Amino acid sequence: MIEDLEFNDWCPGCGNFGILRAEEEALGELGLDYKNAIIVSGIGCSGKTPHFINVDISGVHTLHGRSIAFATGIKLANPSLKVILNVGDGDTLGIGLGHFVSAGRRNLSFVIMMHDNGVYGLTKGQASPTLPKGEKTKSLPKPNINAPINPISIAIAAGYSFVARAYAYDTQSTKEIIKEAILHKGSAFIDVLQPCPTYNDINTIDWYKERIYKLDIDPNVNNPSQRLEKIKQAIDIAYQEDKIGIGIVYKDLTIEPFEDRLLSNIPGYIQYYPAKTEISNNNRSISDLTSLIDELKV
Ligand code: SF4
Ligand code: MG
Repeated sequence: MIEDLEFNDWCPGCGNFGILRAEEEALGELGLDYKNAIIVSGIGCSGKTPHFINVDISGVHTLHGRSIAFATGIKLANPSLKVILNVGDGDTLGIGLGHFVSAGRRNLSFVIMMHDNGVYGLTKGQASPTLPKGEKTKSLPKPNINAPINPISIAIAAGYSFVARAYAYDTQSTKEIIKEAILHKGSAFIDVLQPCPTYNDINTIDWYKERIYKLDIDPNVNNPSQRLEKIKQAIDIAYQEDKIGIGIVYKDLTIEPFEDRLLSNIPGYIQYYPAKTEISNNNRSISDLTSLIDELKV
């Protein structure tokens, strides 16, 4: 947490500034700080968010593709915390893809904000998993020969119960989406389209301006019988050509969050979750694992 922007080494014009601002405002409006929330990041330009955010909040800058594992541990150790991840597209859909899919299956309540710029910015602009096939950014010697992953589609297939798309330079709507994602019970994923003016000269601010529009849909699944219809709606939005809808794409209110499944399976977890449990007294361990071991016996 650094309060002076002169320490910020993101490039001028980077979309990360818009995400940072939207996130600061969302946290402020929800009254979140170090007492009740934490930011977890991976590796990449997005990974610096916990260092640059001007909010009195805790942050952990973790490993490439492993921020979801850290966030899962934090949330399970202290379910009362709001956990927000700032991660990159390479970070999440490349090396971290297995963790990303597993998180959707669990539906643990945290928010994954994926800074989606189509490149690995920190390492000089190699193609990331979201860069379309055939695109040749100024950082690539030849056009990309890999097909892209569609972030919205894979999030829905993995089971995320809140899926949204935001645009870094529309800070107002990004802030509102972040707030709704934080308040959602279950895993939330936001694909934040983030221009990288240094390495991606194709998906520029002008390019986005011609395509972005605000979604006007009802994304909510209030009853399992609506699920298929809402998934189809979300997939149509995910694969639109020449238009990019921003807003909440899918919100399933019928799936039990992982922490609730845990609570119903481990009586007393909410009273005695790990962050509340005393583990030492005068440097001597007072942990008694007997009841936990009994619980796990088959
Ligand atoms: Fe932003 Fe791209 Fe610079 Fe990274 S390399 S700080 S993503 S403009
Ligand atoms: Mg990237």
